[in-house]
Amino acid sequence: MWDGRTRHSSKHGLTAQERFWAKVNKNGPIIIPRLGKCWVWTGATDKDGYGRFGLDKDHRSEPAYRVAFEWENGPLAPGMEPDHLCSMEECVRPTHMKAVTGTRNNSNAHRKLTPVQVRAIEQAINAAPHKRKTEVRKALAREYGVASGTIYNVLKEDYK
Ligand SMILES: [Zn+2]
Repeated sequence: MWDGRTRHSSKHGLTAQERFWAKVNKNGPIIIPRLGKCWVWTGATDKDGYGRFGLDKDHRSEPAYRVAFEWENGPLAPGMEPDHLCSMEECVRPTHMKAVTGTRNNSNAHRKLTPVQVRAIEQAINAAPHKRKTEVRKALAREYGVASGTIYNVLKEDYK
């Protein structure tokens, strides 16, 4: 256990993973039901609300969600970034992210929704905290591969 790889661990002898997950509340909100609960970062954040985590004292801190994503999926390819499916900046659950390029393909923007999808979207938006409704709408647009305006129309009469 006390080989060279542990020399950067904290004075408490914890690994980076142990320090990381100690700062995560796995009992977060459910934004998209099939993805389950968000895992909410409770450690330091930047001004945009994204968690920051220092892998060891020789490195600058990194976005916490990216650390979690790379531990789970391996290093991101150049130009790729994890994108939150759940729209929670502070969420670090790897299954709530997918790798996307900076310029996301938007060719599905005009796809139509099925009645079952419309119902699921209505429920998700109704369940979302008021101040998060806009973010949730954007997340649902990504989730279902449609324009966020389409999601907005679900809430109006267009889909009823
Ligand atoms: Zn999440």
